[in-house]
Amino acid sequence: MSTSRNRSESLYQEALQHIVGGVNSPSRSFKAVGGGAPVFMKRASGAHFWDEDGNRYIDYLAAYGPIITGHAHPHITAAITAAAQNGTLYGTPTELEITLAKMLKAAIPSMDKVRFVNSGTEAVMTTIRVARAYTKRNKIIKFAGCYHGHSDLVLVAAGSGPSTLGIPDSAGIPTSIATEVITVPFNDLEGLQAALDRWGDDVAAVMVEPIVGNFGMVMPKEGFLEGLCKMAHDNGSLVIYDEVISAFRFHYGSAQTYAGLTNHEAIQPDLTALGKIIGGGLPIGAYGGRKHVMEQVAPLGPAYQAGTMAGNPASITAGIACLEVLQGEGVYEEMERLTIKLTEGLQASADRHGVPLTINRIRGSFSTHFCDHPVTNYDEAQDTDGEAFAAFFRHMLDRGVNLAPSKYEAWFMTTAHTDADIEDTLEAAEESFKAMKK
Ligand code: PMP
Repeated sequence: MSTSRNRSESLYQEALQHIVGGVNSPSRSFKAVGGGAPVFMKRASGAHFWDEDGNRYIDYLAAYGPIITGHAHPHITAAITAAAQNGTLYGTPTELEITLAKMLKAAIPSMDKVRFVNSGTEAVMTTIRVARAYTKRNKIIKFAGCYHGHSDLVLVAAGSGPSTLGIPDSAGIPTSIATEVITVPFNDLEGLQAALDRWGDDVAAVMVEPIVGNFGMVMPKEGFLEGLCKMAHDNGSLVIYDEVISAFRFHYGSAQTYAGLTNHEAIQPDLTALGKIIGGGLPIGAYGGRKHVMEQVAPLGPAYQAGTMAGNPASITAGIACLEVLQGEGVYEEMERLTIKLTEGLQASADRHGVPLTINRIRGSFSTHFCDHPVTNYDEAQDTDGEAFAAFFRHMLDRGVNLAPSKYEAWFMTTAHTDADIEDTLEAAEESFKAMKK
């Protein structure tokens, strides 16, 4: 089976003339799945995309996470339209910002104070600055394969896009900056203790995706977050949770209060970075934390952070509307029900055709690893069959299913997916696994 994507091909050639690499984020390129033109989408509605050639796709990319209510959700679209009519950018405070801040605080109790920014990258970057200002220390400990955006400090041994493209460290980052970051394996408390023993006095913060979304979906092992928080705090370091993916993904709240993780009191961070879902599909980021830590931030304290676009009424309104949809009864349960149906079907199909497949599912999201071993850290996620993933990705695309073009990225269910979408996806998967074995 082959689907015509002639217009995507020609638009890609044109894009290459004007936009570096033809894409505005490297993870959108098809480099990790054999190259060639990415699909140029023209329209999206609910769980579906239509490309420039008129092909329809069931979407599990969800724009790398934010689109949890599906594309062009009517409640969010109405909110954005109303916001646009009232003016999109003020450069003054608005009541809307208070509303969204209160919603975030109510859902994530460790955040006494919030500040809105424009992206997850900005949010994470600033939590690091604030932690350094508060502790008057310099170094950061992070975990291999966790992706924290593209600011200098966190592009050291990062996962997600950079690992997909095989760039362990980005060019343009001075060694002097890279030496401020220590990377240890995820789920490895001994490694963390060793790093703290070596660098303790100078460690400002231990930063982690408490539930990983960037080398597949990976849960912390039992006791990992408790141990991490205790070790960091005993050392006088702060704990930063990057919840850009995980907040509002698994339940109405964040990993800090997720029922799949117990002992919530012992896993509270000092600072949290947010993005993606909280903007309802418009650009946003936010960070927040304990009052005494957040009071480091200007205009109250010496740590400077600002933004022309920060807290703009359009993004804030879309974020409020998105969270309102997520407050609906049974929303997460339904996404989970569909995801269980999908993952069970995928596993059975792969098994039937003898394709090794490990699926990590956490409620309404999951990752597919082409291997026959568990994936609990970045090394294990790397040790999987990238060529098999690339083949599967292309077969699925040709059968109208849009996945992220990387073996490390998750599949995201949305509130717009239906049983019919799952059944169509499973049919496409059955044909894809079969074709892979030929
Ligand atoms: N942190 C995490 C955990 C992420 O997954 C991402 C983006 N994938 C970021 C930070 C960066 O967010 P943004 O792309 O909005 O800058």
